[in-house]
Amino acid sequence: MSKSVRLGVIGGGQLGSLLCMAAKKINIETVVLSDDKDGPAKNFCDYFIVSKYENNEKIKEFISKVDVVTYEFENIPVNFLNLIERQKKVLPYPKINKIAQNRKLEKTFINELGINTTDWIYIKSAEDIKKNRHLLPGILKSNTLGYDGKGQFILSSIDDIKEDWCFTSDYILEKKVKLKKEISVIITRYLDGTTSYYEPIENVHKNQILYKSKIPAEISKEISKEAINNAKKIADSFSYVGVLTVEYFITENDKLLVNEIAPRFHNSGHLTIEAFNISQFENHVRAVCNLQPKLIKKVSNAEMYNVLGFEIQDYKKRTLKENEFFYDYLKKEPREGRKMGHLTILKE
Ligand code: ADP
Ligand code: MG
Repeated sequence: MSKSVRLGVIGGGQLGSLLCMAAKKINIETVVLSDDKDGPAKNFCDYFIVSKYENNEKIKEFISKVDVVTYEFENIPVNFLNLIERQKKVLPYPKINKIAQNRKLEKTFINELGINTTDWIYIKSAEDIKKNRHLLPGILKSNTLGYDGKGQFILSSIDDIKEDWCFTSDYILEKKVKLKKEISVIITRYLDGTTSYYEPIENVHKNQILYKSKIPAEISKEISKEAINNAKKIADSFSYVGVLTVEYFITENDKLLVNEIAPRFHNSGHLTIEAFNISQFENHVRAVCNLQPKLIKKVSNAEMYNVLGFEIQDYKKRTLKENEFFYDYLKKEPREGRKMGHLTILKE
């Protein structure tokens, strides 16, 4: 029997945990590199290494233990990924991180593929906003390092610009879209170029944080097809390997716009664990470890609810019905807005 691949995972949060669980199911060992000694993935991986990116001894140990490296979040310094890449394969390829962690590069890249995004402009000063008032009401988003709505400011009108604002970093200004719906498409691409995808998932956000996901998405066949085709186009253009998520807006006038891309499995795809024969996590493991692709088959319709902050205490006491599946991420401290777990409900 051939030796199985050992997978390195950068990041020890809930996405890393769910990835390790999927790997275990198919006998792939995992080594997690986390900068947090309490990272929940320590409960689900085979080896847990706590280190900052600059701790050379620990990083050497991580690299020596694994055959291929992947990651649970995109905001990892690209230099660090390049350093690992000199010794071990890093998948998805780090060139996509450079783009996915920078909104300006991301939107430029998407637009150059001929795919629509919101109207946007790169902003370095209050003056830049004043020059682009046609984008108001809009959302000012930090160009790098944003997640769950962090680093975002709603600008209703030019009066919201304060004279004493100083711009220590760069931003983009995006026109606020009148949203009919939000959806995501999760696609897997293998080394040989084979792709497989889940049907679009419908997402509801509250305070810019994902609240609920569901399938089937209530959208037209045309939009569904366009969303899947765009995701394929994006994945192919990178010769991408692994799971890629594309977040979309559908406007009031039924226009499909890419919101952002995530070079990874995604919160909206947690329902794939129960609703399909193969989850987004197993798909990712199979693709980056170069295992046989597996045909995706739907098992059930489903809804997924995120459990935030102190809500976890009530969820832990809940009696689950046979169609309900609850995940506690085992995070030490609940904090307001922090993703603590999720509940998937299978539906008719
Ligand atoms: P993050 O990187 O934090 O996920 P997003 O850009 O995806 O940031 O924004 C989070 C959520 O905020 C979106 O899913 C959407 O609900 C809302 N949002 C963001 N940008 C816009 C916009 N231009 N128009 C309307 N809603 C928006
Ligand atoms: Mg988002």
